[in-house]
Amino acid sequence: MKVVDHLSQAKSTLFSFEILPPLKGKSIQSIYDGIDPLMEFKPKYVNVTYHREEYIYKDKGNGLLEKVSIRKRPGTVGICAAIMNKYHIDAVPHLICGGFTKEETENALIDLQFLGVDNVLALRGDPVKTEASFTPKEGGSAYAVDLVKQLMELNKGQYMMDDVSLEPTDFCIGVAGYPEKHFESMNLATDMQHLKDKVDAGAEYIVTQMFFDNEKYFTFVNKCREIGINCPIIPGIKPITTLKHITFLPKFFNIDFPEALSKELLKCKTNAEVKQVGIEWGVEQSKGLRDSGTPCVHYYTMGKSEVVKKIASEVF
Ligand code: FAD
Repeated sequence: MKVVDHLSQAKSTLFSFEILPPLKGKSIQSIYDGIDPLMEFKPKYVNVTYHREEYIYKDKGNGLLEKVSIRKRPGTVGICAAIMNKYHIDAVPHLICGGFTKEETENALIDLQFLGVDNVLALRGDPVKTEASFTPKEGGSAYAVDLVKQLMELNKGQYMMDDVSLEPTDFCIGVAGYPEKHFESMNLATDMQHLKDKVDAGAEYIVTQMFFDNEKYFTFVNKCREIGINCPIIPGIKPITTLKHITFLPKFFNIDFPEALSKELLKCKTNAEVKQVGIEWGVEQSKGLRDSGTPCVHYYTMGKSEVVKKIASEVF
C-alpha cells in the first residue's frame, strides 16, 4: 500500500521510522533486532536508507596506493523485501541519483516492482565522502527532481528501452525537504522552489530533514502552503544520543539546536546524560507535533531503536 494512502486513512498521527542496512558482513538479524522493539507502535511502513560506494586507498606495499571502491552498507532492496515478508508492512527504499546511470535506476525500479514495493523515497544523495561536491555518474541524474521525473515516466509505462512493452509501475514517490534549508542552497526560498519542482514533477509527500525546534517545522509547512506545495509534510525526528552529536549534527545536517536544548546539552558530561536529554527533548517535540495534527512522526533510528522506543512509548 502507498504511504499517502496510509496517511489519508489514518485516524490519528502515525509512527514511522528509518533504518540503515547493516554493515557488510552483519546478518539480517541485526535489522530485525532494530525493528522488533518498535512494532508495538504499529508502524505502517519502514524506510530503508541507501548508501553509495566510498573510496579507500589500499597500500600496495610497493610505495603505491590503489584506489578501491567499497560499499559498506549494501542490501537496501533485499532488506525491503525481507521486511515486507516478515512483518507484513510496507517498506520504503531510498533511491539516490549518486552512483547510478538512468538505466541502472530503471533496472533497480523493475526489481522493486517485481518485489511488490509500492513506495520510493527519491533523493539525490550526498557527495562521495572523498569529494567536495556531488557529481552524477555519467548518464545519471543530477538532482532528485530528475529521479522523480524518471519514476513518473515508468509510472506511465515509458521505459528507456522502447523496443519492449512493459507494465507501467505504480510507485508512490516521496522526496526530502529541509525546514532549515539544504546546505548547498543559496537561501531557503530557492531551496523551497526546488522542493516545489519535485512535487510538481510527481512527488506525493515530503519527509523533512531532522530539526529540533518545532516552530521551524510549522513555519516551513506554512511557507510550503503559501507557494502551493499542498502534499503531506512528514516531520523527521532524530534523538540526540551521544556527546559527539552535539557538534556533528549541526555541522553535518545544517541545523540549529534551540537555546533551551543547547543549555541542557552543555551540562552533560557523559553519553548517558546526553541520551537522557535527547529522549526528553524527543518526547516533547513528538507530543507537540502529534498535538498539532501532523499526519505522521518519522524517526531516524540510526541503530538506536531503544531510544526511539522510549520516546514512542510516551507519545503513541
Ligand atoms: P535535491 O532535491 O536534488 O537538492 C539538492 C540541492 O540542489 C539542494 O540545495 C537544492 O536546492 C538544489 N537543487 C535542486 N534542484 C536544482 C536545480 N534544478 N538546479 C540547481 N539546484 C537545484 N542520502 C543518502 O545517500 N541515502 C539516503 O538513504 C538518504 N536518505 C535521506 C532521507 C531524508 C528524509 C533526507 C532529508 C535526506 C536523506 N539523504 C540520504 C541525504 C540527501 O541525499 C542529501 O541531503 C542530499 O545532499 C540532497 O538530496 P535531495 O534529494 O534533497 O536533493
